[in-house]
Formats: sequence, C-alpha cells, structure tokens
Amino acid sequence: MKKRIFSGAQPTGSLHIGNYLGALKNWVALQNEFDSLFCIVNLHAITLPQDPKVLKQKTLDLARIYLAAGVDPTVSTIFIQSDVSEHAELAWILNCLARMGELERMTQFKDKGKGNRERAGVGLFTYPNLMASDILLYQTDLVPIGQDQKQHLELTRDLAERFNRDYGETFKIPDAFIPPVGAKILSLQEPTKKMSKSDENLNASIFLLDNADTILKKFKRAVTDSGTEITFDDARPAIKNLLTIYQLMTGKTAEECEANFAGKGYGHFKTETAEAVIEFLRPFQKRFNEFDDEELKTILKNGAEKAKAIARETLKDVYAKLGIFGASN
Ligand code: ATP
Ligand code: MG
Repeated sequence: MKKRIFSGAQPTGSLHIGNYLGALKNWVALQNEFDSLFCIVNLHAITLPQDPKVLKQKTLDLARIYLAAGVDPTVSTIFIQSDVSEHAELAWILNCLARMGELERMTQFKDKGKGNRERAGVGLFTYPNLMASDILLYQTDLVPIGQDQKQHLELTRDLAERFNRDYGETFKIPDAFIPPVGAKILSLQEPTKKMSKSDENLNASIFLLDNADTILKKFKRAVTDSGTEITFDDARPAIKNLLTIYQLMTGKTAEECEANFAGKGYGHFKTETAEAVIEFLRPFQKRFNEFDDEELKTILKNGAEKAKAIARETLKDVYAKLGIFGASN
C-alpha cells in the first residue's frame, strides 16, 4: 500500500510563487509515489472576512491552479473542504482536546490577529485544530507544507498523540515534508517576513497569474541592500531570497547561480530573475485558462466522494472511541 500525503491551500487572495515553490511544486513531485489528497480549504479561508462572491470564484480558480501546476486528477484526489463535513466535525472534537495555552503559542494567530485579541475571530484562534482535522481524517503519512506551517503540524502531532493515549490507537502520526530550498520565500518589499497572499502590499508578492510587465516591475522595485555581492548569504536575506527564486525557477545549482551573477550588478540580477520567472509561468498561465467550470465541478465532485469515504471511516472510529452514540452510528 502506498503511503498517503495530504495538503491544501486557502482560496483567498491570489496564489504566489511562494505557495508554488514551498508547497504545490512538491505535491506534483510526490503525487505518483503517494496516495495523494489535495484540498481547497474554504473553511479555513473564512477565519478572516471574505466577500462571498469572490470566495466562490476563488474556490474554482484554486482548483484551476492545482491542475495548471500539474496536479493530475486521474492520480490525485482534489476536493473542496466544505464538501466533506467530517472536517468540521472532527475539528469540534479537537477543539475539545486542544488546550488554550498551546493554541496561544501559535505564531500565525499572533500575526494574522495583528496582536488584537479582543477583535480577533475565535475561528482564527482555533484554525490549527481545523488543520489538524484535515490531516488526521485521512491517516496521513506526510504533509508537504511551507516553513510557516511547521508549528501547526507539530500541534497536529501532539493532538493525535494525546487522543491515541487517552482513547486508544486511532490516528496515524503525520510527518511534515518541508523542502530544503524554497520553504520560506520572502516578501520582495519586507524581506524579513514571508511572501503572503494576505499581504496588503501587492508589490510584496509575485502572483502566479501576474503578467510579464507586472513581474518585471515588481522585481525592479524589490528591496535589496547596500552590498554588491550576489551570493547565498544568510546575513543578506533580500539577495538570498531573489537568488533562491532564480535557482528554483531555473533548476540550476547554487554554485551555478552565484557564478552566473559574479561581477554583475543588482539591476541585471533583478531583470534576469524576472525573466526566469516569466518564462516559468508562461506555460502555467496557458494551462490555467484551459479548464472550464463544468469540468472542474466534475473533478471536485468525484474528489469529494473519494475523500468522504476515507474521512467517514476515521470519524466513525473517533465517535466510537469517545462514546458519541447516535442512532446512525
Ligand atoms: P495567507 O496569507 O492567506 O495565509 P499564504 O500565502 O500563507 O496565504 P496558504 O494558503 O495559507 O497561503 O498556504 C498554502 C501553502 O503555501 C502552505 O503549505 C504554506 O506553508 C505555503 N506557503 C505560504 N507562503 C509561503 C512562502 N512564502 N514560502 C513558501 N511556502 C509558503
Ligand atoms: Mg497561510
């Protein structure tokens, strides 16, 4: 039996090259080796306010993005989180298992809640429990994610271990798959923080659907430093970030990248990096426009059926272990 991977992205904002390099690229690389489930996590999306019409459109567009990135619906299961109600059901149970203290240590809540506890949504606070539910429902072995989700994955493991200890062996303990390069692509404007869909500064991110002009402009505006060397140096995050993007887009080794820019200026470096990204995104953007809504809906409906069958089995076991008795289970 193949081992299983599960991962997802939120249908909010526009996907950026960080999402691709940190997550989607690895989904595609792993999908044949593993039994793969890729979810569009629309219930996570509403942890911050969303315009309903936009959310609906973004949900289908995200399916398009998965397919355009190379997720193969004949190999992998692609589905929408809200189509499998078990996600919300198990999340409630995990809400009862998790402790306030451990959720309070989650840095994403602090970042997205902007430190304003009084105004922050309760859903934003319990977000990690819903994410744990997503993963544990499928008895997942491996979760390909970016660096920013590492802490949530550790919580997922803690919750699974606690449940198994208190109620008997129920959940598989998942491992994170975090790529050695590209797990944290930084904002082009503030290279101390990660590139994020929810960043209000649009110049901070290169979106997968940006046109060539926009990409070039954004790279030209990218923050650099007062140095001149173009090398992978942890002490110079802005340059290292641009070089990492160049490396992953061209498939060159780190040494080849540094050699390529030896003796060249930042202007040239930015333009060449922009061109590499534009070339890389060209076929992706063409594929994005190839899928019509009906085709997508069929893929998502079939995906939801397959996912639900697995999720139900796990949830039935959880209910039985907890003594949650109902006339239908
Ligand atoms: P938001 O700001 O709305 O949370 P996001 O950019 O963090 O958006 P998500 O949908 O939350 O995107 O995350 C999807 C996947 O992309 C996750 O696996 C996440 O770890 C990964 N990811 C997000 N940002 C980056 C980044 N800057 N570099 C590498 N991977 C990233
Ligand atoms: Mg995120």
